[in-house]
Amino acid sequence: MKNFTAGVEMVEMADGVFARLHEGMTNAGILIGDEGVLVIDSLRVPSFARDLIADVRRLTDKPVRYVVDTHSHWDHAWGNEEFPEAVIVGHANCRAEMLDVEFTEAWRERIRERADPWAEEALAVRVTPPALTFEDSIQLWFGGRRVDLRYLGRAHTSGDIFVHLPEDGVLFTGDVAQDGGVPYVLDGYMREWIETGTRLAELGAHRFVPGHGPVGEAPALVEARDFVAELVASTERSVTEGLDEHVAGARAARDLRERFGSWRGFERVQESAGYTYRQVRAS
Ligand SMILES: [Zn+2]
Repeated sequence: MKNFTAGVEMVEMADGVFARLHEGMTNAGILIGDEGVLVIDSLRVPSFARDLIADVRRLTDKPVRYVVDTHSHWDHAWGNEEFPEAVIVGHANCRAEMLDVEFTEAWRERIRERADPWAEEALAVRVTPPALTFEDSIQLWFGGRRVDLRYLGRAHTSGDIFVHLPEDGVLFTGDVAQDGGVPYVLDGYMREWIETGTRLAELGAHRFVPGHGPVGEAPALVEARDFVAELVASTERSVTEGLDEHVAGARAARDLRERFGSWRGFERVQESAGYTYRQVRAS
């Protein structure tokens, strides 16, 4: 067993394809090709990116050629500046969000308030958006395998993309789908997320690496979609019945508890329902 960063578990998903699972933090992917490496998500701040690079070095001495941002969120993409030699790839909307000063400042403010150990570093990050963007899909031929970068519609953000290895049945889902975890929804497009989640499950992958938590299997993709669908359905009922936001939140927690009460982060359902409520009501 190699000595990876503390708290990191390296899972080989296929030959040369690794899930770098980081307990309580953000996961990354590492694909080793013939001449270089493709990294999925650069992580929250430069020091985390440097730990990731050190772990890549424990697997191979090949240079990192590509960094794929699954989406714009700070804990996935604020390590980009540590990869000056790599091409940063992402969706056009991901780039737009990262160039949106208000979006970035709102995140800096939230991080400052939480006073996490990496807060100071996060405040000084040079946010580095993707230099290569696309709208629908890119096929990359890497290390003798086909790598599909897919956009399936808005969901957790406006620019979520998925890394699909169709020949290996492996999928990297960013924050759109986890195995048994409530997603962060406060930048989400809730109704569209349901459709995107359905298309994601239909890609036919057998196993997936989420942005947070353990590796999941195909049925968990459907569960993740169902969670969002039930959150939206419960909230829509409350809006139709003229309930206020607070009552709608409590009701959503009640409605979802039986099926999803054991999920990581279930305590966030009330707040998630409040956001969904405002979005449903405004539409
Ligand atoms: Zn996210």
